[in-house]
Amino acid sequence: MKIKGIAASDGISIAKVYKLESPELIVLKDLIDDSETELKKLETALEKSIIEVQKIRDNTAKSIDEEHAMIFDAHIQIIKDPEMDRQVKDLITEQKYNAAYAFQTVSETFAQIFESMDNDYMKERAADVRDISKRIISHLLNVEISDPTLIDEEVIVVAKDLTPSDTAQLNRKFVKGFITNIGGRTSHSAIMARSLEIPAVVGTKNVLENVKNGELMILDGLNGIAITNPSKEEVKEYQNIQKQLLKKKELWATLKNSVTKTIDNHQVELAANIGSPEDIDSVINNGGEGVGLYRTEFLYMNNNDFPTEDEQFIAYKMVLESLGKHKIVIRTLDIGGDKELSYLKMDPELNPFLGQRALRLCLSNIPLFKTQLRALLRASIYGNLHIMFPMVATLEELREAKDLLKKCHLELTKEGYEVSDSYQVGIMVEIPAVAILADQFAKEVDFFSIGTNDLIQYTFAADRMNEKVAYLYQPYNPSLLRLIKMVIDASHKEGIWTGMCGEMAGDQIAAPILLGMGLDEFSMSATSILQTRYLFSHLKFEEMKKAVLEVVKLSTNKEVYDYMSELIKKSKE
Ligand code: PEP
Ligand code: MG
Repeated sequence: MKIKGIAASDGISIAKVYKLESPELIVLKDLIDDSETELKKLETALEKSIIEVQKIRDNTAKSIDEEHAMIFDAHIQIIKDPEMDRQVKDLITEQKYNAAYAFQTVSETFAQIFESMDNDYMKERAADVRDISKRIISHLLNVEISDPTLIDEEVIVVAKDLTPSDTAQLNRKFVKGFITNIGGRTSHSAIMARSLEIPAVVGTKNVLENVKNGELMILDGLNGIAITNPSKEEVKEYQNIQKQLLKKKELWATLKNSVTKTIDNHQVELAANIGSPEDIDSVINNGGEGVGLYRTEFLYMNNNDFPTEDEQFIAYKMVLESLGKHKIVIRTLDIGGDKELSYLKMDPELNPFLGQRALRLCLSNIPLFKTQLRALLRASIYGNLHIMFPMVATLEELREAKDLLKKCHLELTKEGYEVSDSYQVGIMVEIPAVAILADQFAKEVDFFSIGTNDLIQYTFAADRMNEKVAYLYQPYNPSLLRLIKMVIDASHKEGIWTGMCGEMAGDQIAAPILLGMGLDEFSMSATSILQTRYLFSHLKFEEMKKAVLEVVKLSTNKEVYDYMSELIKKSKE
């Protein structure tokens, strides 16, 4: 069977299907005659759960570290808790309740006791109790729940949706790709797939309902297609495509240590987007000339609590030191939208992408923001730091953020810390209001970085996560191109540089247009860098400048796409 979706991360994988689902656990309240049988069921469910948690513990120790693995020791202790055990058994033997109901009743009481405690640490144990109860109850009900941490063979993960933290937990060794029902090319799980260098297809609407665990799947992340139970010929055909892709990559790799320039010697900078210090290896291996976007929210998302100033300082210092003189753009916390923190209670919002996200959230929680700004400033002496604020909408917001940064700088100097005085401060241009007023913003910042993932969603009023409106992700639409041109022109008029860190920067049809507009820096998934350098080395800047004058006069996304495809094809001949 052929399944169609949106191509989200390049590459081909052939592996078994692993369905990641969390079915609802419906516990009925039954009275039973035979308490012995229920006690036996309980004992078996507890034993199975201990074996599984022990396996997760060992996998975590291997793939992350011992400290994270210890969380699961606490889970095992909960399973073995004698008081909980006594109360569950009493409900079964004395009240004659079925084991699942007895266990659920007692565990929920325990969770609520933890939740009502004053101490934050104890409060968090409620989530542990609920987590482990789910596992035990699933065994009592004989319902299979999937658990990606238990994966120990090569698979393609199939899910309704993957949150960025689900994606972060996928084991790179075994997960060879993923395919989901919902999502678009710029949803964060798709972006992470590109940095994990695994193929991904999103927005299929119903892949989860149409595949079975264990069946073979070909995942084609280049064309947004999956094939289940492929024929021998199809497997062969895709193995050939895999080989050709590898050959192309070898050709691109010859430019790893070169500068990025066109035939007529116009030079630009190709940088990488990263989510953690560990991604730096991939930046270096792919010939990145710097980091144009470090999404610091993953430092928060991969944690059980807010990272402290020292923890953040260590991460930022590590990234800054790793690339020497090269520019590192570190973006302040951009939480909200599709990125949540398990430990930060946010009021539910009807439109989270239009709500209190990113800078708006930071300005409403100054202690949270200050911790990050202080860590950044302390790290500033270790490299070429650029601080960038996300989701700025007004000049007042920018001024407030800059004032706070200045305050932190003064505070730190008074406390005896050394802080660099040469770091740059910039903003993401991802809200149309800022693009339109770019001439004024340009007077108050050192640089712009255009965030097209959001700029496109706000310009076309189309949720970037919603596959039903994915056709409105229109990077070539002349309306967007004119907006981008305004931003680049405004920055150059003020003598500041403009980069782009949205996915559009690595798009092989859009990038030549941006080149012609004079974009100074292109920041993309590390895996797109060499391909883009290769492309630029076959283009003439003067020709692309002329192409810009033509495409902004066209009317639709498709017209621009066709015009540029033809032009690029000719240039490569
Ligand atoms: C963007 O909006 O283009 C961007 C780079 O930020 P994010 O994808 O993290 O929202
Ligand atoms: Mg954004």
